[in-house]
Amino acid sequence: MRRVLLVDDSPALLAAVAQRLEEAGWSVRRAADAEEALLAALASPPDAVVTDLWMPGLSGLQLCQLLRGEPATAHVPVLLCTGSADRRSRFWARRSGASAFLDRGDPARLIEELDRLVPPGTDSTPEVPVAGDASMRRSTIPARLSTVLDRALFEAVVVGELRSLAFDAADVEGLFRAFSRLMTDIVAYSWLAFSVPRRHGVRVFVHQHSRHEGRALHGAVQSVVAPADGPVELRVVGDLLAASEPGEGVVTALPIMLRGRLLGRVGVCAARATFGREESAVLGLAARELALPLHTVALLEETRRLASTDALTSLANRRAATVRLEEFARRDPAAHSLSIALIDVDRFKLVNDTHGHASGDRVLWHVAEVLRAVARGNDLTARWGGEEFLLVLDGTSAATARVVAERVRGSIARTPCRLENGRSVPITVSIGVATFDGDGLDALIDAADRALYRAKSRGRDRVEVAGEPADAITP
Ligand code: GH3
Ligand code: MG
Ligand code: MG
Repeated sequence: MRRVLLVDDSPALLAAVAQRLEEAGWSVRRAADAEEALLAALASPPDAVVTDLWMPGLSGLQLCQLLRGEPATAHVPVLLCTGSADRRSRFWARRSGASAFLDRGDPARLIEELDRLVPPGTDSTPEVPVAGDASMRRSTIPARLSTVLDRALFEAVVVGELRSLAFDAADVEGLFRAFSRLMTDIVAYSWLAFSVPRRHGVRVFVHQHSRHEGRALHGAVQSVVAPADGPVELRVVGDLLAASEPGEGVVTALPIMLRGRLLGRVGVCAARATFGREESAVLGLAARELALPLHTVALLEETRRLASTDALTSLANRRAATVRLEEFARRDPAAHSLSIALIDVDRFKLVNDTHGHASGDRVLWHVAEVLRAVARGNDLTARWGGEEFLLVLDGTSAATARVVAERVRGSIARTPCRLENGRSVPITVSIGVATFDGDGLDALIDAADRALYRAKSRGRDRVEVAGEPADAITP
């Protein structure tokens, strides 16, 4: 027989409702207040608890929170009944983990809800005392309640902090740094790891004490990476906030999910002695609550990337290149040399006219690939316009820039582009090089443009450098 614990401070109501429930086939145990109910439920957990909301002493809401906080009764559904169902009580009842909130004057509805939560024929929990918490007595209930409420408040604050991480983080790395600062306030871990998928592979961030720089990284990465994730791009953040003990201990890793989609994973390694139920609960909260900030920040990053990337070639677009050039142009040219190479595909219109526009697009992609291969780490390659590309060579003098430009020209000339139909077309480019002299960005680009024009007029497939003696003799 299904067993229900019925709690009400009004003996008349208690008797009336108990009778209705018994008629409906329930075995009813009665309690005159929440304290008595709590002790009874812990001694022998019922299949459901039906409680009045407002009672002298502990309220039905507090009873509900206490039952939720005890492992023996955490799963038992609690139905709250009241005569005055104001909105706030209803709201708070849901937040306290109540399964239903009902009108006291509607026992038929109560029976319906009970049947829904504990369907007839459910294997009732046997009425035997469980090895409950023997320390729980009437006198210890207030202390227990304050522990439960403290924990709820703590969790609410952690959730609030986790959600607000999205406000300050400009990118995923910023989010990870803020997240690790928050976590070090709560958990003493030797490393914290975090992974997010990227287009080809996965980005992994690891936070650890700077003393361990480089050690235990394998375990950290493994905790948040799956074999199918592809190549790992690793970023290690070292500071003095993480625990300084070596990276041994309990490893816990959890997925970060949003609407059924995997957004990333979070993993932590902490000494067994310091990683208890509370810490594990915090990690669970973190994995759940990080989803939204991570999604927001990842969208922001993607939007920024799209706004600064050329869709056809995936190089930086003109806007992004201009922003970088403006930054460079603010520096003192005497202290920082800066050269640019303006690259224009020769007779490109002919490619379009002969092979079609789609083949033209393929040639542009091909040129971008060669540029990517030739460029060094801090060079910026951009699509400047139609079939024009820009190579920004920071820290490079005119003489070196000419060498680099020659390498680009030679590479492209030696690498024909294979079209979709299997045919290869030879491609050449003309390049104009100019070096920043402090005269402003427009002057720099103008100088490169004129050098490029000269390369075209001198037969194409060649490099010309602005300001070289040849400039003077050009009509
Ligand atoms: P030159 O050697 O003097 O540079 O000759 P060109 O044919 O390369 O120069 P022109 O400026 O006459 O032609 C550039 C062509 O590039 C015209 C335009 O239709 C084409 N174009 C511009 N953007 C794109 C694009 O995104 N895709 C394709 N397929 N063609 C493009
Ligand atoms: Mg051209
Ligand atoms: Mg052109």
